Amino acid sequence: MYDFRGQTIIVTGGTRGIGKGISEGFLKSGAKVTATYSTNEAAAAQFQQDNSQFAEMIDIRKLDVTKYEEVEEFFKYMETRYGSFEVLVNNAGIRKDSVLAMMKESDWHDVMNVNLAGAFYMCKFAVMSLMRRRYGRIINVSSVMERYAFEGQANYAASKAGLVALTKSLSKEVATRGITVNCVSPGFITTELIQDLPDKLREAYLARIPLKRFGSTEEVAACVLFLASREASYVTGSTLEVAGGL
Ligand code: NAD
Repeated sequence: MYDFRGQTIIVTGGTRGIGKGISEGFLKSGAKVTATYSTNEAAAAQFQQDNSQFAEMIDIRKLDVTKYEEVEEFFKYMETRYGSFEVLVNNAGIRKDSVLAMMKESDWHDVMNVNLAGAFYMCKFAVMSLMRRRYGRIINVSSVMERYAFEGQANYAASKAGLVALTKSLSKEVATRGITVNCVSPGFITTELIQDLPDKLREAYLARIPLKRFGSTEEVAACVLFLASREASYVTGSTLEVAGGL
């Protein structure tokens, strides 16, 4: 749909789930993709195997986005290896649900650290590089929970609402440098992240979705590719919901 030939794309958490769909969307559109993963070596190997036809265009790197120094090292590596990159997709995210009164302090901080601080670290080093080239696209993967904030997800919803605010603020800071910063907000997408939903809750959520089904990773990827395209040059600071009408 879009031509990303000659472009280098970074996708955090890019070897499984939604991130895998996004990485594959870019690969099919001609881009080189650096897909990071945190711990799941098996999923990273599977991603490589599933996309063996793009072997020369794939670079898989282990990266914990919550570690500031690791993120700094990662961008030094990108500069040494590629000189530059055009697109950053901050897709890495976790959820650790429980009602707030029972929420462990560590569960609050873990979710905030990956979903919000991790995106901050990635954006911080990315914009320094993108500003020099006066071109870039940053897409942050939020969630419709930033708006709905279902019970049991205070940490997750707050982190994703924070990500939307970070996106809007950063978009204004870098607008004159040719860099756009946007969010994609998925609803319920069939991945490991929501595999643990009890059947009753799954049915209840399905009943609330006007399209009456969960989305696919490809459907999220299509929105990310649009925002990452040169054609989306007048879209910045926005949030594109891909949620079946929820
Ligand atoms: P997933 O659990 O399959 O993937 C999460 C990814 O995040 C993994 O690739 C993992 O390696 C990465 N990650 C986790 N901790 C990390 C860390 N410390 N450092 C670097 N990477 C780390 O989940 P998914 O459904 O593919 O979710 C991807 C994104 O989409 C997340 O930000 C999630 O919040 C968001 N989202 C998902 C849904 C859904 O229904 N699946 C809905 C809305 C938003």
